[in-house]
Amino acid sequence: MPQLADFAAGLLAATPAAEAAATGNTGLRELFIQTAYLAASVLFILGLRGLTAPDKARHGMRLAAAGMLVAIIGTLVDYQIVTYIWIFIGLVIGSAIGAAISIWMPMTAVPQRTAISHAFGALAATLVGISHYDHIVRIKEELVTRDVMAALGFEVMFGALTITGSLMAFGKLQELLPSEPITYPYQNQTNVALFIAAVLMFGYLVIVPSDWGTHGTVFYLMVLVGLAVGVLIVIPIGGADMPVVISLLNSYAGLAASATGFALGNNVLIIAGALDGASGFILSILMSKAMNRSFANVLFGAFGTPVESEGGAGGTTGAAVRSVSVEDAAAQLAYANEVVVVPGYGMAVAQAQHQVEELAELIEKRGGEVKFAIHPVAGRMPGHMNVLLAEANVPYDKLLEMDEINDQFPRADVALVIGANDVVNPAARNDPSSPIHGMPILNADQAKSIIVLKRSMRPGFAGIENALFYDPKCALLFGDAKSSLTKLVAEIKTL
Ligand code: NDP
Repeated sequence: MPQLADFAAGLLAATPAAEAAATGNTGLRELFIQTAYLAASVLFILGLRGLTAPDKARHGMRLAAAGMLVAIIGTLVDYQIVTYIWIFIGLVIGSAIGAAISIWMPMTAVPQRTAISHAFGALAATLVGISHYDHIVRIKEELVTRDVMAALGFEVMFGALTITGSLMAFGKLQELLPSEPITYPYQNQTNVALFIAAVLMFGYLVIVPSDWGTHGTVFYLMVLVGLAVGVLIVIPIGGADMPVVISLLNSYAGLAASATGFALGNNVLIIAGALDGASGFILSILMSKAMNRSFANVLFGAFGTPVESEGGAGGTTGAAVRSVSVEDAAAQLAYANEVVVVPGYGMAVAQAQHQVEELAELIEKRGGEVKFAIHPVAGRMPGHMNVLLAEANVPYDKLLEMDEINDQFPRADVALVIGANDVVNPAARNDPSSPIHGMPILNADQAKSIIVLKRSMRPGFAGIENALFYDPKCALLFGDAKSSLTKLVAEIKTL
């Protein structure tokens, strides 16, 4: 216990370095810090494990948050801290921003919030790297050792491109920038050339340690090129490929943080950064698979330019859509034995998850069975639909992944598509000329009948027409999903 009191005193001391020297408890402090870092790392790993299943995800997030708290406490007792004033100011501002985001930010804005968080995380890593370099080379006028330069170079190069890349992703998702790809001649060649230039500068900095003049110039030039690469590699990527970009940038931010850990000799940064880097990378691969796209195609394919379907297998030329009244749709749902709900981005926009849950409960009370078909990229972020439906207390066992539910569509009396579009577009299967051809989709078109809730004939994120809406089995109930569902619930109650 006395040791704990020492740590508490250390936390409160204005000049812990002096205090540590006076009491001679540096070794004990170090032990505490390393133990805290180890505990934090274990909590991060358990947290990540929790995120693999929807019913354990909340618990996983709590474990990860506890891990972050333990890591911060461990860092706060570090004897190298000279003053707590700026740390305290940063903690207050950061906590206030975090609290405001969690209270007021709508679920639909989570993807752009994630993008901006990566930008800030990468900014922190880059600034730490720059100040570390500046301290060694300019202030202390020493040569940077090769291993430290390798870590620093990696940190600032990936950090810089993640800052601007994430800001571009934020701009696209927030619709401050056009979500369509921005393209120009020799774009991929220019991007590759710039990236190679950055890597060459990185190589030079590691291999040729020199004094401030040339070395410093090349270092800051590399940061600038990194910033430019971030902008240039994200602007040609269309909105529909943003899930992969976001998770890839997540991975870069993690790798930059890990490199910061190597440069500073900080174990928890190395571990947390590596976990972040690896999980972001795995998620990018899973997202690419869900959209049937290779990394190269996502990064260099300029996918998502609005195009009109040209007829053919999934074509719609000359066909008309059929709209349905609330009364008819309600009757169809009320007397159905099996209903598969396909939620999409529109359900998130309308915040209609509670009405969906109410409708499902009502149908089940009348003897029907309701299941939810979850496409891995439905919505605007991985797990978007799971999060919303969990919030509305839809039982987890009713949420079925694409592979589990797809064979069950032919048995369904009604596929109720709520604000989903690209993820049920049969052109992905039938139309080789479609930009989403090959993307695995939910087989809503194989249900006995299909009811689609949407507001207009506007396309989804990929900017393409959907042949499903022209299928004779399909009827559209136009209107905001929340209001349509509220009317459907009221109508079914009268039947
Ligand atoms: P889409 O973007 O394809 O379609 C959403 C549909 O919802 C639109 O057709 C829109 O039609 C309708 N809608 C919007 N607001 C409302 C409302 N208030 N009430 C009713 N309907 C509404 O969404 P999907 O979920 O089908 O597909 C996701 C797409 O987004 C894929 O292309 C995916 O690749 C991409 N994406 C996915 C990410 C992820 O990580 N999950 C991230 C970024 C992109 P209307 O305007 O007529 O109402």
